[in-house]
Amino acid sequence: MDLIDLRSDTVTRPTPGMRRAMAEAEVGDDVYGEDPTVNRLQDTVAALLGQEAALFVPTGTMANQIAMGAQLSPGDEVVCDQGCHAVNYEGGALAALWGAQIRGLPGRRGLLDPAQVEEAIRPANDHHPRSRLVEIENTHNRGGGTVYPIETVAAIAKVAHRRGLRLHLDGARLWNACAKSGLAPSAYAAHADSVSVCLSKGLGAPAGSLVAGDRSLVADARRLRKRLGGGMRQAGVLAAAGLYALENHRERLAEDHENARRLAAALAELPALQVEVDAVETNLVFAEVRREGWDAARAAAALREHGVLAGEADSRRLRFVTHLDVPAAAITAAIDRIAAALRS
Ligand SMILES: *Cc1c(COP(=O)(O)O)cnc(C)c1O
Repeated sequence: MDLIDLRSDTVTRPTPGMRRAMAEAEVGDDVYGEDPTVNRLQDTVAALLGQEAALFVPTGTMANQIAMGAQLSPGDEVVCDQGCHAVNYEGGALAALWGAQIRGLPGRRGLLDPAQVEEAIRPANDHHPRSRLVEIENTHNRGGGTVYPIETVAAIAKVAHRRGLRLHLDGARLWNACAKSGLAPSAYAAHADSVSVCLSKGLGAPAGSLVAGDRSLVADARRLRKRLGGGMRQAGVLAAAGLYALENHRERLAEDHENARRLAAALAELPALQVEVDAVETNLVFAEVRREGWDAARAAAALREHGVLAGEADSRRLRFVTHLDVPAAAITAAIDRIAAALRS
């Protein structure tokens, strides 16, 4: 039986059209700034985000870390949601690489509110760490793929800037936020001092992320990229996949969202799972395992035996992610298989 892989939107494989674009990419040495395809991707993404410049990097983790690292000094504090990617899934990099301290706040489905941010910013006093950076994630992964209302982003930015802090936007799934809200990526990015975006999640490229901001931030990011070993040579082969993804795979994200809603509604009918259908805004579906004596690991193992791969968000919750490689018909099949797995 072919497995239906709903663990993550990173599991997509390059499509034939994308592979063609990669094969035909014009390349040069990007450490010298001479790869025309990388340069075109950087210009394209800077324009999409309404920022002065952008820098291509291998991963979203590196994008977040060099963007924040360019704005932090040791002992500085980062105000963020306690469930954010940068704190939970980046190997402790904020502490390990930049010596930053974290002020993790309990967000509502991962989203911070401006008053909560204001309250967490330290007054100027020699006893305190220096509050330096606010970090937000849109869409929010552990929050359930939640989309920030643009007014909230604007208000958080206003508080941060008024108090002398900078704002970093982790936009690994900013494309999903835009597909949901109908807003342009630049509408969200306009409020941030630095932005990271991924090409290897919903857009389906094999690798690649970008950091965007003003020219001086991107120049600093470039130095940090080299320091961390992220300066790639003929990276145009990867950048071509990213350009292809931006041109061809953004509009279809709405299909992933539709598939996620349908999956969530079907899973909510199963007694073994508890799903908040109304909380499903984009392509992530979280389901709490309610079956007596079962935890997420046991449920995931049962699903695997029935040909569906799901992620384990924590000991109680499964995560299902819809993406480019799972068309609507496969979602229908997945629903049947999951129902069978949890009955048996
Ligand atoms: C996936 C992800 C990243 C970056 O992940 P990489 O695997 O390093 O590319 C950053 N932020 C969020 C919210 C993510 O979901």
